[in-house]
Amino acid sequence: MSDLNFINDLAKENGFSVVGVTNAKTSKLTQTRLDEFIQNKYHGNLKWLEDKKEIRKSPEKLWSDAKSAIIFGFNYGPDNNPLPELKQSSNGVVAVYARRKDYHKVLKGRLKQISNKLASKYKTNIKVFVDTAPIMEKPLAKQAGIGWLGKHTNLVSKKYGSWLLLGVILIEKKLPVSKKHENNCGSCKKCINICPTGAITEPYKLDARKCISYLTIEHKDQIPINLRKSVGNRIFGCDDCLAVCPWNNFAKVSNDIKLKENKGINLLPLKKWLSLNDNEFRSLTSGTNIKRTGYIRMMRNCLIAAGNSKDKSLIKYVKLHLKSENDMIRGSSIWALRQLLELNEFNIIKKKFLPIEMVTSIRDEWI
Ligand code: SF4
Repeated sequence: MSDLNFINDLAKENGFSVVGVTNAKTSKLTQTRLDEFIQNKYHGNLKWLEDKKEIRKSPEKLWSDAKSAIIFGFNYGPDNNPLPELKQSSNGVVAVYARRKDYHKVLKGRLKQISNKLASKYKTNIKVFVDTAPIMEKPLAKQAGIGWLGKHTNLVSKKYGSWLLLGVILIEKKLPVSKKHENNCGSCKKCINICPTGAITEPYKLDARKCISYLTIEHKDQIPINLRKSVGNRIFGCDDCLAVCPWNNFAKVSNDIKLKENKGINLLPLKKWLSLNDNEFRSLTSGTNIKRTGYIRMMRNCLIAAGNSKDKSLIKYVKLHLKSENDMIRGSSIWALRQLLELNEFNIIKKKFLPIEMVTSIRDEWI
């Protein structure tokens, strides 16, 4: 059996949909794009990206003995298009990948099983990664023939559309490489055009500071005021540029039992989210990616979504957060109230709260 067939069988046995092999090196273009991304400050407050830039550039810089990178793709294709959910403005939309158990542990466990078998066949050193190390998974997946990088900078596959999670195994053995996948974007610009904040500044360039995924998950401060309306009812991540891609017409629905969708998390009413305390939040999101973002950032997101909902029945739930000890939650609740109330109603509340507000940035939210 050839090396590629052996690896392919291991991938299938462990629930991966697709696998490819490439050298443990990235192309010059990939490295230049990373340099530009950091120079332009597109990474926002993702300081770790900047700090580990040189190591991230190529797997051989992370581990000098690495000869090959084996990239595994896990299909998480949803059973319906998530875009229409954005119209349910009183409910919070969660990115498709986060509607299930945190995939990191599950996929890492499977990659470890695979690495044991590789180690016993090739008698060599192996390392396993799922989003945990400074590795550029997407360009490596492209090199390994799993798909191509679309104009939104994410991976696209002819067979699985936009819905692949990636895992990486680095190995000290030089393996035959897989055939590359051609870029099939052609003249399409749907992902660029649909982005609510214009975060895809030009084809293949993304300003993460404007990306709703970054703003709702990674961004630690208040969401910039000029972007809040564009966030809509997205409370954790955003799938717009992925979901609009025409290649999803060929995507398959994921049928993995361990990582099946938890139907209770997506489209949960915003009033339910806004009624949670920290403990209730932890228990609701236990075992999911959402829990790591934490109560404060999720309340910020839900308040912004409530402000965008045009649903006046949410006013009383927004008001619950006006006295929060956390500045960001307090500030977001003021903004949400301003969107939901008439000016005279807002001014009545402002009269009561502005004189006791001590933080300048929060006073600015009132003003
Ligand atoms: S939406 Fe169009 S441009 Fe964007 S990744 Fe898909 S095919 Fe490429």
